[in-house]
Amino acid sequence: MRVRLVNWLKNAKQNKWPSHNLAENTMNHSKQHENRSSSFQSFQSSLDYTIPQPRPSYASYSRRSLSTKKENDNPYEIRTYLPDLLRSFGKFEHGLKDVLDNNKRWADNSQLKEMKFFDKLENEPKLYWIGCSDSRVPPEIISQLGFGQLFVHRNIANQFDTNDTNSMSVLEFTVNHLKVEHIVVCGHTKCAGVKNACNNHLEKNLIAWLSDIRKIKDVHPELFPDQETMSHMSNDELDRIHKTLVGVNVKNQVKKISESEVVKKAWEDEERKLAIHGWVFNMENGHLEDLGVTVGRQ
Ligand SMILES: [Zn+2]
Repeated sequence: MRVRLVNWLKNAKQNKWPSHNLAENTMNHSKQHENRSSSFQSFQSSLDYTIPQPRPSYASYSRRSLSTKKENDNPYEIRTYLPDLLRSFGKFEHGLKDVLDNNKRWADNSQLKEMKFFDKLENEPKLYWIGCSDSRVPPEIISQLGFGQLFVHRNIANQFDTNDTNSMSVLEFTVNHLKVEHIVVCGHTKCAGVKNACNNHLEKNLIAWLSDIRKIKDVHPELFPDQETMSHMSNDELDRIHKTLVGVNVKNQVKKISESEVVKKAWEDEERKLAIHGWVFNMENGHLEDLGVTVGRQ
């Protein structure tokens, strides 16, 4: 039972969140390494693709990916080509130089220049995306949308706070100036921010930022089992509780946005299309799941 609890908690541990739970004392580095290796292997085996060995150069990836499309008008085809995603499991070999080199190879791609890509860029998104800052949930990649199509605001546990200047200024800009037609609040499974919302060992600003999630406990205490209760639950049950809490958190943000003065004012215009949606990115299979809590006009 103790082992199952530790397995469930290991995600928070891997995200390097301060922890005072069992995972702190029982996980060791070799075990973590094994876990990472096995998850990487299962990820590989779940894809009908064999990583080329040795890995071809980036230039040959680009040629291969571009050559498979008759008309390539989506530069993200380059970024999301499968070997590049798999490469993200590795570490920087040359520090930040790798990042700058990656950028240069991408920016200097001849096809981008031919299509005058950088001259055509416009900031006219129809979709405002509020997501978690978690590095495993990049909005443009999981939505397969490219430059100019998403206006993104990310923070820990995808919060929207009407008392936060950051949240409100982005809402005003996207609704009043960009005239977006959709606002998506996207949570995700394995969210360390949600899991640690009740961790009193966090720093004061983290505790304050996650306070909205803690308030859910008053309405849904069953979503916050204590350690004794958790020790009698299966991994599946714990995952289900976490996913439900992630969904409730998303719904709460959708509600707050829909009740904001900015959105209510926009809806006074009966011609105005503006809908707010709640989604969850399922990290187990990569799917975006619609919670069915959409409000507004589409
Ligand atoms: Zn998260």
